Amino acid sequence: MVEKFFITTPIYYPNREPTIGSAYTTIAADVLARWNRLKGKKVFFLTGLDENSIKVSKAAKEAGYQDVQRYVDEMAKKWIEVWKKLKISWDGFIRTTEERHKKVVREFFRRVWEKGDIYKGVYQGLYCEGCEAFLTESELVDGLCPLHKKKPKPLSEENYFFRLSRYQEKLLDYIEKNPDFIQPESRRNEVISFIKAGLKDISISRPGLDWGITLPVDESHRFWVWFDALLNYISGSEGNWPAELHLVGKDILRFHAVIWPAMLFSAEEPLPKRVYAHGFLTIDGQKISKSLGNAIDPIWLAEKYGLDTLRYFLLRHIPFGEDGDFSEKALVERHNGELVAELGNLVYRVLSLAERYQGEIKGEDELSNLLDFERIDKHMERLEFHHALEAIWDFLKAVNRYINEREPWKLEGEELAGVLYNLLEALRVIAILISPFMPDTAEKICQQLGVKLGNFQQLKFGRFEGKPKKGEMLFKKISA
Ligand SMILES: [Zn+2]
Repeated sequence: MVEKFFITTPIYYPNREPTIGSAYTTIAADVLARWNRLKGKKVFFLTGLDENSIKVSKAAKEAGYQDVQRYVDEMAKKWIEVWKKLKISWDGFIRTTEERHKKVVREFFRRVWEKGDIYKGVYQGLYCEGCEAFLTESELVDGLCPLHKKKPKPLSEENYFFRLSRYQEKLLDYIEKNPDFIQPESRRNEVISFIKAGLKDISISRPGLDWGITLPVDESHRFWVWFDALLNYISGSEGNWPAELHLVGKDILRFHAVIWPAMLFSAEEPLPKRVYAHGFLTIDGQKISKSLGNAIDPIWLAEKYGLDTLRYFLLRHIPFGEDGDFSEKALVERHNGELVAELGNLVYRVLSLAERYQGEIKGEDELSNLLDFERIDKHMERLEFHHALEAIWDFLKAVNRYINEREPWKLEGEELAGVLYNLLEALRVIAILISPFMPDTAEKICQQLGVKLGNFQQLKFGRFEGKPKKGEMLFKKISA
């Protein structure tokens, strides 16, 4: 049977257009989806929009829309447009205002209700509108929400509660027995201490709202947005649940690693195999915000520097689990060094040599033993994109050294054919390996080689079947 790989991004609030932050997560998910397709897995890649949030209905009103649905419909078009431009290869797209989603939320709630895990109570607490969540005193910094720098409002109201506390022991036990469930390790430890400090029941509804999904047992209440949003992973799954991997930012790990599994325990649904929290992205050392202007717009960056350079840089420069800084200066350096001088130059050199050779290209494999695919794949499995790219580049550098050692420009006849055979096969393999990161560049290399882009079954050197024809340089140097 073909192994499945169901990967998700968080669903995003369409109260603004995508930033480099949401593009970062989504590009990472796209690379993993493409990588696993090349491995022959049955991939389902899900992304979407979290449209039922108060934040979204506020943004609609601020933008002059009376009809929130019309606003989210228009924003959804913009998001899809951006993901297409960034070559995101999603298989499923879920919007939480879709009927198929609402149906799943209500059915799921019913099951949790029948389990006896929902009750009505009074909530008194400090509510942060930015977080759309109640905060505890201990979470505040100088009386303010640490994320939104705003004073949360005291709020007392009747809510429906989910008995999160009931699942504390079961959850701890599960996390201990499944060491790979939460990654990276440091985040896993944070979640464990958080649970050990004691889980409180959480409010999952609010009365008196005019946007969101109503509770099936009480029409005057609407779902707290997270209870609703997390269920996108099932409502959008097209029968692929459970997910093999949820990619999330570290700020929303608790929802995914504590509340979500408890909800699934209650409804007796299987848990996702793995939840991976990546770090925060800053721009030149600053938090992503509107004041940074164009620098946070992924389309502006892709048009200025090239999409593949942007995709490559994001995953090569920043170790995925850690916080990292995005700077155009660092991007230009890597572009000129790694993409122009190393990759682009190698392709150009080899194709120039191949062009002036007329005979049949054949020889003995002298290079493929320098490629350590297992090592690259292991890094991808651990979401160490930067190490995977490093390992691909090790092969690329070995190919460059091979040219310098063999000096093919001094060779003729069979000897030249043998070296060319190795170089062209190496480029064919490099194109396959980089294609998840840089789909356009991989395609261009294949065009110049006159071959079809292969998959990981075709990493071994075979007969070179192409018809090489030199094209333009893959990357142009950017002057700093
Ligand atoms: Zn907040």
